Amino acid sequence: MTSTTLINPADESVLGTIEHATIAEVDDAVARAVVAQRRWAALAPAERAAALRRFAAAVDGAVDELARLEVRNSGHPITQARWEAEHVRDVLTYYSAAPERMLGSQIPVAGGIDITFLEPIGVVGVIVPWNFPMTIASWGFAPALAAGNAVVLKPAEWTPLTAVRLGELARESGLPDGVFTVLPGRGSVVGERFVSHPDVRKIVFTGSTEVGKRVMAGCADSVKAVTLELGGKSANVVFADADLEKAAATAPYGVFENAGQDCCARSRILVQRSVFDRFLELLEPAVRGVVVGAPGDEATEMGPLVSRAHHDRVASFVTDDARVAFRGTAPTGPGFWFPPTVLLPASRSDRSVTEEIFGPVVAVLPFDDEADAIALANDSVYGLSGSIFTRDLGRALRVSRGIESGNLSVNSHSSVRYSTPFGGFKQSGLGRELGPDAAAAFTETKNVFLSTDA
Ligand code: NAP
Repeated sequence: MTSTTLINPADESVLGTIEHATIAEVDDAVARAVVAQRRWAALAPAERAAALRRFAAAVDGAVDELARLEVRNSGHPITQARWEAEHVRDVLTYYSAAPERMLGSQIPVAGGIDITFLEPIGVVGVIVPWNFPMTIASWGFAPALAAGNAVVLKPAEWTPLTAVRLGELARESGLPDGVFTVLPGRGSVVGERFVSHPDVRKIVFTGSTEVGKRVMAGCADSVKAVTLELGGKSANVVFADADLEKAAATAPYGVFENAGQDCCARSRILVQRSVFDRFLELLEPAVRGVVVGAPGDEATEMGPLVSRAHHDRVASFVTDDARVAFRGTAPTGPGFWFPPTVLLPASRSDRSVTEEIFGPVVAVLPFDDEADAIALANDSVYGLSGSIFTRDLGRALRVSRGIESGNLSVNSHSSVRYSTPFGGFKQSGLGRELGPDAAAAFTETKNVFLSTDA
């Protein structure tokens, strides 16, 4: 059996080790899930709803415990980690309403009636990245369970602790055995077995585009359903007519939240040329004002990067010849600290403009007019998120329609609400999570015709 030594990213202390599930253990969990799923789906919808509400209540009672685990395992600031645990509770509560609302249709046809049923798919495999370990897990397991499926979940190797605790809370709240199983382990072992296992009928994968492509190819082998939430290189587009003070004051929080380890990070700030210099003047104090420090402090806004390996990858984008405009501060000493960094790339094809950095590094670029802004925002293989700052409502709508991206916000950096759909265009993903339709995405539509002929 293999294991991972877990390191606190803020001080490099050892938190402990976590043992990895073996392929035999995955197969055993899937076999139990197959049996448990049939019983779970056969429960009255109101009973499944009540079970999910009890699970939500158990998470509510453990918000502080989950948040503190995330602070230690992932280095998330405590205020953010608390929001994440509360978000899991809210996602469960929202989808606890779904079992009693899995509505089919009645379709007018000749000679009888035609009705559709939304049938659960069976066992769903959820594969989670390390950047938001709890919240992203819940986007998969909550609607999947609500729709009558069983779930096996693989957390990221570096950040399994909150997912493991959520698995325990599910059991403690009375969720039937085998309906929701958390299996820590390697992507190349546990994750790949989810993909290849014939009884896992859908994969929900969140992670890098590179691995997502492999997962999708693996799912093709058995025509397995797949949802992909992948990388991003989102644009924050600031027009000359915007409230520049607000745009500059909020820009750091659109990219440096979670130390930039956010698929929705607005890691390209595109500014209309006529206000470019003024915007940078306003941005500098905002970046220097980001409070980077101990994740356990209530005032901390940004913590460390998740690991040494990831720190070194992010640092490779800020070499000695990089055109750094200005930087914020970060603690020195142990921990994977990296200061908020603003780059002024020499060209639109610079690596810092085209590649996902996934750290607190943002590239600021000028544009000429609306058409140029849209073209530059779309000049990416990704299309996940983005923001538009303007006081012109018509322009806000035109640019929103013009940008090839799944989640846009105007005069703000909002991306994720459990009640609205979330997902990417282009190589940022396939399918949508959250919102009113997410539970239906974990079903197969069955059509039944009943003849009324005598
Ligand atoms: P990753 O390396 O692709 O890993 C994601 C998950 O897949 C991990 O649990 C990983 O396990 C597992 N995995 C690795 N190889 C696998 C394989 N061959 N088969 C099945 N599973 C495998 O991504 P990451 O570095 O953890 O996360 C960062 C990336 O996620 C970024 O690109 C970010 O943009 C993206 N992301 C996207 C969204 C979104 O909603 N669009 C949200 C968050 C993050 P191990 O931990 O063992 O490697």
